[in-house]
Amino acid sequence: MDTRDVRKMLQAIASTAQEAADEAKERMYSAGQSLSDKYDAAKLNLALSRTKGEQERIFTDMGRIQFLMNTGKYSDFEAEHITPKQIMDHLMIAAEQKQQEIDRIRERLEKVSGTSQYCPSCGRRCEEDAKFCPECGTALVTKAESSGAM
Ligand SMILES: [Zn+2]
Repeated sequence: MDTRDVRKMLQAIASTAQEAADEAKERMYSAGQSLSDKYDAAKLNLALSRTKGEQERIFTDMGRIQFLMNTGKYSDFEAEHITPKQIMDHLMIAAEQKQQEIDRIRERLEKVSGTSQYCPSCGRRCEEDAKFCPECGTALVTKAESSGAM
């Protein structure tokens, strides 16, 4: 990999990182609104895999930057006033934002599909028909039982 290739790659990552970070800031304010009730499980699953893919690409870029930092190949690029540290910070923000988005989609999915419950002891998500938490063994009150008792 010669210097020109490294620079080109870093510029590409830097610009996508900047975009992703900007997008992250915008979206944090509209959190929750983007996933309205009209979204069904199929759409949510699609959104989930798309968001996971976007996060994967961010992780890949982070790996590349780390590699270039470790091998000292970024030095030429620093002259352009964007340090690998700044790029990494942007990527971190973007990856964190994607994680929040993934968590939000998962929450919505659970509400839509209703196929899970939470352990009252450790908070782990369990199958709807599970009698005990697979994590800590706490007995679970199933939805059928709790609604029948009321
Ligand atoms: Zn548990």
